[in-house]
Amino acid sequence: MASRGKLVIVFAPSGSGKGTLIEHVKNHFKDKVVFPVSYTTRQIRPGEKEGDVYHFVSAEDFKEKINEEFFLEWAEYSGNLYGTPRDEITKHIEAGDLVLREVEIQGANSISRLMPKEDLISIYIDAGSWEDLRRRIEARAPLSGEELELRRRRFEKEILFKDEADFVISNKDGELESAQKHIIEIIENLQ
Ligand code: 5GP
Repeated sequence: MASRGKLVIVFAPSGSGKGTLIEHVKNHFKDKVVFPVSYTTRQIRPGEKEGDVYHFVSAEDFKEKINEEFFLEWAEYSGNLYGTPRDEITKHIEAGDLVLREVEIQGANSISRLMPKEDLISIYIDAGSWEDLRRRIEARAPLSGEELELRRRRFEKEILFKDEADFVISNKDGELESAQKHIIEIIENLQ
């Protein structure tokens, strides 16, 4: 019988370059790692495809799925709902696959609480201090003082996960290449 697989959760504060790293992992491992599709109520963005990273659903459909206990975990983030489908993840772990999903902090905390320890690996992407992140966020798009303060407060909570994660990947300015190597190495060692 094949040995059990694992769920790898990748967690990173906003602005830490997680999207680029995950894209790299997807291209590198192609069919070797499963990337489950989450559900969200947020609007689809230009360039995104339904069923690629997310299934885009109405709040009504999402709530129905909550009631049906369809999600392993779900959370509200910036006014939208996000959830990981339970069955897809357990099915792949039982089949011996490596499953990788990025989640925000509530999802990371719930999954750490809910999943058996031996089924789970957590990775924290460390892009530095709040000041470093603020610079990156502001370079991407101007934000109001209020929105920045919201992000700062969120960051204070998010950074607490760093001490709990199994692996911390440093992805400060200029470290993208070494961060890419590091995440590939971690996943290769799990296979
Ligand atoms: P975005 O809207 O920018 O794609 O994602 C917003 C946040 O939602 C990110 O921090 C992302 O990691 C998180 N996220 C994406 N999918 C899920 C999920 O299935 N569950 C939870 N809890 N968070 C998710």
